[in-house]
Amino acid sequence: MKKKITILLPAYNEEESFALLEQQMLQVLADNPDYDWEFLLVNDGSTDHTLQQMIVLHQRDPQHFSYIDLSRNYGKEIAMMAGFDHIDSDGVIIMDADMQHPISVIPEMLHYFEEGYDDVYAQRRTSKESWFKKQSSRWYYRFLQRLTRIPIQQNTGDFRLLNRSCILALQQMRETERNTKGLYSWIGYNKKGIFYDQNERQQGETKWTFGQLVSLAINGITSYTIAPLRISTFIGLLVSFVAFCYLIYILITTWIFGDPVAGYPTIMVTILFLGGIQLLSIGIIGEYLGKIFNETKKRPPYFIKTYQPTKKDE
Ligand code: UDP
Ligand code: MG
Repeated sequence: MKKKITILLPAYNEEESFALLEQQMLQVLADNPDYDWEFLLVNDGSTDHTLQQMIVLHQRDPQHFSYIDLSRNYGKEIAMMAGFDHIDSDGVIIMDADMQHPISVIPEMLHYFEEGYDDVYAQRRTSKESWFKKQSSRWYYRFLQRLTRIPIQQNTGDFRLLNRSCILALQQMRETERNTKGLYSWIGYNKKGIFYDQNERQQGETKWTFGQLVSLAINGITSYTIAPLRISTFIGLLVSFVAFCYLIYILITTWIFGDPVAGYPTIMVTILFLGGIQLLSIGIIGEYLGKIFNETKKRPPYFIKTYQPTKKDE
């Protein structure tokens, strides 16, 4: 029996990427005949002809192409979750539908998969992103790593090969406020990094807006760790301590030198500073409260319009 590997391809308005996608997937098929391949396309509520393209691919090659059509656009994290829930393979490779991830590293992934690694993740070697994006992601990960014991893989996205243990683990992660990158780290297992050069996006444009990136970043921290809550406690303690010392100082100087009414700047600075810290701390609490609110609703994470599995004709 050949091992079955699924390539999971979440797609949102990627109609222009499909010619390349099909060609690349057929290439994977031709290059790696020792495996039983499935290409699972997830249509994340696209408003263009992405779904029609998926149907065409499935009809052309029902043995290899399957698809899930979600009821609306849920975002890539949930689209991947829907994918994981419909995978029964020995391994899954997650790739972007825009084919920015090169299929050329797949044989290397399979090599380490066969060696027994549970999670073979691809690390961007030369990132062609802007200086700002590169730097902000570096600082962000450095900050995140400070906050947690769990090792975090840098310059790493969803492009990776996960074996059955990891798939089963991820299927049990039911949170809807997801940062899947954090989950890969959280579940642990044996990890192996390999390097790759990211391709330029050939068709269409990036689906992430700046706002979405910021919210992903905040989600990354808050779904990982409650450290910010603790940090705000510490800042509170520190500020109270400093304020207490200052209070003693004022009492003593007033006692010795009397009370000439002065000190407007100090009062303003103190009020503004404390006000800022208080608002920040309330904001942090709000972030977690919002998560609790969303999770306690216990809504299904997504709805599916159609699921079309692969057909085996023996
Ligand atoms: N994507 C998705 N749902 C969304 C946004 C993006 O499924 O709401 C998919 C998209 O089709 C692509 C992958 O997620 O396959 C990565 O998106 P994109 O290429 O826009 O991100 P970037 O490569 O710029 O980080
Ligand atoms: Mg992309």
